[in-house]
Amino acid sequence: MPELPEVETVRRGLQKKVRDKEIKEAIIKVSKIIQIPSAEEFIARVKGKKIREVDRRGKYIIIHLDSKDKLIIHLGMTGILIYPYEETKIIDQEINPKHNHLIFIFTDGTQLVFNDVRKFGKIYLVSDLKEIEKNISKLGIDPLDEGFTEEFFRQILNKKKNSKIKSFLMKQEFITGLGNIYANEVLYRANIHPLRTISSLNSEEIKKIYGEIKSVLMEAIECGGSTVADEAFRDVNGKKGKFSQKLQVYAREGEPCIKCGRPIEIIRIEGRSSFICPQCQRL
Ligand SMILES: [Zn+2]
Repeated sequence: MPELPEVETVRRGLQKKVRDKEIKEAIIKVSKIIQIPSAEEFIARVKGKKIREVDRRGKYIIIHLDSKDKLIIHLGMTGILIYPYEETKIIDQEINPKHNHLIFIFTDGTQLVFNDVRKFGKIYLVSDLKEIEKNISKLGIDPLDEGFTEEFFRQILNKKKNSKIKSFLMKQEFITGLGNIYANEVLYRANIHPLRTISSLNSEEIKKIYGEIKSVLMEAIECGGSTVADEAFRDVNGKKGKFSQKLQVYAREGEPCIKCGRPIEIIRIEGRSSFICPQCQRL
């Protein structure tokens, strides 16, 4: 599932490539991905509108239109946005056009396509972000936001002293954007076992986790995110994320820890795979 670095990679690509383009028409092939409003109203409201700034909050992409409507996109499990589609489809045979669920045709003839194999992606068109607050307001702070200081991190940890650190990092209501891949990487780099209780962490360990959240995310964005073995992630050009090759613990079960040489182990936590070095990450 795309996490913050992948969504930020898509946001940057859109900001660079489709800003100021005018939507001639939108074609909806699978209407269930449009959450708000109806498909008919969606098509009518985007027609003739220009794309302005492209923002992001956690895993949500927020595209501002010149009508003041906001197009909000959550990529779900396998959603990708491809632009310019008419060129990309020729170079990447792995993108199956049968999963193109929403197509924007711009006045210059180019196309932005939303392709989603598993159809968990969600798209909203709202005039006010309040209309989808029930989804977005539960989101905690974006770790790339200026307000995400070490002091703030300590404050939110204090509210959940009995939680396990990995579950806390992945719960979107506290910090939004970290999923299973990056929570695993952060804790490995900080030498913290994912099942450690927050109240057991000392000040130095909290400082280390905070620093690794920032640095892992920034490094991953620099690499265009991660495309892991069974997943479909692509940037807007149809290219795979290169951070997958730099992952130090995620999906490295049985391979040697790069710090101590012990084989990386896999444990299940809340139904998700956690990868740890039993030597470097002690419970
Ligand atoms: Zn180790």
